[in-house]
Amino acid sequence: MTVADKLKNSQKPLFSFELLPPLKGNHIQAIYNTIDPLLEFDPAYINVTYHREEVVYKELKNGLIEKRTIRKRPGTVGIAAAIKYKYKIDVIPHIICAGFDKEETENALIDLHFLEIDNILVLRGDPDKSTGKFMPEPNGHSYAIDLLRQIMNMNKGIYLDEDLKNITPTHFSAGVAGYPEKHPEAPNLETDIMFLKQKIDEGAEYIVTQMFFDNNHYFNFVSKCREMGITVPIVPGIKPISNKTHLTQLPKTFSIDLPQDLVKEVIRCNSNSDVKKVGIEWAINQCKELIQNGVPSIHFYTMGLSDNIAEIAKNIY
Ligand code: FAD
Repeated sequence: MTVADKLKNSQKPLFSFELLPPLKGNHIQAIYNTIDPLLEFDPAYINVTYHREEVVYKELKNGLIEKRTIRKRPGTVGIAAAIKYKYKIDVIPHIICAGFDKEETENALIDLHFLEIDNILVLRGDPDKSTGKFMPEPNGHSYAIDLLRQIMNMNKGIYLDEDLKNITPTHFSAGVAGYPEKHPEAPNLETDIMFLKQKIDEGAEYIVTQMFFDNNHYFNFVSKCREMGITVPIVPGIKPISNKTHLTQLPKTFSIDLPQDLVKEVIRCNSNSDVKKVGIEWAINQCKELIQNGVPSIHFYTMGLSDNIAEIAKNIY
């Protein structure tokens, strides 16, 4: 059963979460340490993010500065396979346009196909940090929908080289991203949802949302999506605040608003362990309301922390 089928047929809200590959050089044990405390809540699937390469400037011993392009968090496909086979839990690696040409994308998808990893989340990828702009690779994709078309073609047995014979079709089931507070580059929410609808029409089977801290954004987003003819499951993404820097970092990184009541409570905290408690309480209330409103699943952004997610899960599942 694909994750999309699980979402469509679930009788109760599913539990799932997202992991980031560890920084280059770190052990995969860090991933297992994040997963282990969450196993008791029976995760229906685990997402693994993909991180594009970054430009860094390294000062050399002779005082010169060297420009280097590095991938700080490689290993998405390997981690997804390791989780799938160690825990027998469905995995959803993220596949991005950023930093890939179509040939590299095809080869990465063939790796996933051979590993029998058929669930994927299809994304454009973050802009380049040094320029703040998204630039497709030469012969790469500009939007998530273009990448999705390539994947849907592979499912029909259409690969890039039209001369290939005896092609094995792939069986990918794709989800895509949605933004209750709109994507930062979109002129307005309606236009953003119009493009989202195109991704669904192209074959995406569910939507996972950007984090939000006010459920009204999610409810408004879902009702606009339904009005515009999107019928697939829309999974809310929840991130518990866990330190004071989140007050500025999350809005800046994800183009989201933090409700004033939450901000006031965090400002009042004397330590980050107090902030963590506030974040857990806020997320529990959000999740309870979402569940009352019949969401198919709740997807947690761990960012490497699982103790707070476990505390929330204990209160809602
Ligand atoms: P797109 O669907 O391509 O949309 C990008 C922008 O272009 C939007 O403003 C949209 O309205 C507009 N648009 C879409 N289609 C068209 C079109 N045909 N013509 C004109 N405009 C169009 N980033 C990573 O790098 N790695 C990850 O692992 C990752 N995981 C994520 C998981 C989730 C659940 C979410 C919500 C985001 C994630 N991101 C990740 C961030 C994401 O890559 C960025 O938000 C990116 O800027 C947009 O990705 P997208 O797939 O929504 O893009």
